[in-house]
Amino acid sequence: MIKLDDNYRHKGLRKQLVSLLRDKGIKDERVLDAINTLPRHYFLDEAFMQTAYTDVAFQIGQGQTISQPYTVAYQTELLQIQKRDKVLEIGTGSGYQACILSIMGARVYTIERQKKLHDKTTQLIEALNLSNIRQFYGDGFEGKATFAPFDKILITAAAPEIPPKLLQQLKIGGIMVIPYGEGVDQIMLRLTKVSEREIETEEFENFKFVPMLKGLAR
Ligand code: SAH
Repeated sequence: MIKLDDNYRHKGLRKQLVSLLRDKGIKDERVLDAINTLPRHYFLDEAFMQTAYTDVAFQIGQGQTISQPYTVAYQTELLQIQKRDKVLEIGTGSGYQACILSIMGARVYTIERQKKLHDKTTQLIEALNLSNIRQFYGDGFEGKATFAPFDKILITAAAPEIPPKLLQQLKIGGIMVIPYGEGVDQIMLRLTKVSEREIETEEFENFKFVPMLKGLAR
């Protein structure tokens, strides 16, 4: 049974988190509004409820994490989300990022390679009644060719390469946000697909993500 209880205390903590993110440099008010709207404590195990609104990453099982709110806000801002954008997310994890995109009006397609996480998050997202999110159990390196092309692609795990199939599935004029690199840190890249042959690359801050892995985990 999933308990969805959002009280005035949670709402107050969310406001504080939003003002912290604003202080850290997040400017897109639509991103901040979505973070203010979505109860992050729904996405954490009960043991972590108290700290759901601090700006840190948390374990969500299977050795995976829900990204730090700053990271979610940062990646979402770089995506320049427009209403109705078709967005492919690699690494559903807790589902928090997918729900933020959905609240901003995007049509979300999200892929997770860990079966247990996929199943757990599917239940939660159904309970939240957000109809524009489709979840898939699969390998994100493959993307989702059946639903391509995408306006935006967001990778939420450390990518050792720029996955060629994902670039193919991006629209001309589309944007991919990708934490790139195999070391301890990854550099956040924003790739714009200018034409079939030309990719414009912008470099941003360093972050720490769990690795993007090939194949499926049961
Ligand atoms: N977006 C998530 C953060 C997830 S952490 C959130 O909001 O909670 C990164 C996730 O990427 C992990 O759950 C991990 O299992 C998943 N992942 C890693 N490699 C992947 C791949 N090749 N395909 C799909 N998911 C992958």
